[in-house]
Amino acid sequence: MARESILIVEDEEEIQELVRYNLVKEGYRVACASDGEEGLRIAASQLPDLIVLDLMLPGIDGLEVCRTLKKDPSTQNIPVTILTAKGAEADIVSGLELGADDYITKPFSPRVLVARIRAVLRRTAAEPDEETSTIRIHNMVLHLGRHEVLIDGNPVPLTSTEFRVLHVLARRPGWVLTRGQISDAIHGTGYPVTDRSIDVQIVALRRKLRDAGKYIETVRGVGYRFKE
Ligand code: CA
Repeated sequence: MARESILIVEDEEEIQELVRYNLVKEGYRVACASDGEEGLRIAASQLPDLIVLDLMLPGIDGLEVCRTLKKDPSTQNIPVTILTAKGAEADIVSGLELGADDYITKPFSPRVLVARIRAVLRRTAAEPDEETSTIRIHNMVLHLGRHEVLIDGNPVPLTSTEFRVLHVLARRPGWVLTRGQISDAIHGTGYPVTDRSIDVQIVALRRKLRDAGKYIETVRGVGYRFKE
């Protein structure tokens, strides 16, 4: 049974209760807040292991709560799963770029919600030690120091930028990254890389990876994800 603590920030009582019930059933310790201010207060005092954050809140909205959490050194490492209405891709992109780790669209199945939360907790606990290691996933090996990728043992020639795009996706399988996050990761924040240029890199990567290109999935309206 899980023992981590989770804070739910959600103003709709029914949804708050649905989430709370299902997480308590899984053995999580759960605290609830009904608006952003209360959420920030509880987050700062209890330092939960994860925050489920609705975006549409009275008063300070969820994106502002996320921004505040990620600016404060004491709370910035707490993973955040945002809850949002279906079709709100722009909000999802903003949330991910503010540092949220995952998102779930309403309506959701409690089983999926619990599985996604468990996955976020697991992967944030097991962040890879980046620069020194290699990443092995599916039939692929990425040598980070050498900027080399092998598929079934055969090297695939990639440009330096393509390698970095592949690396940023493959080091967090299952995570959705926005185009903005990918361009920040490959060029450092502030460098003007257009969304379109990221798409071009992805097209080239998929072509060079051939069959393994299918592991780079498009998440419509949001970004890209490396298949778990
Ligand atoms: Ca709401």
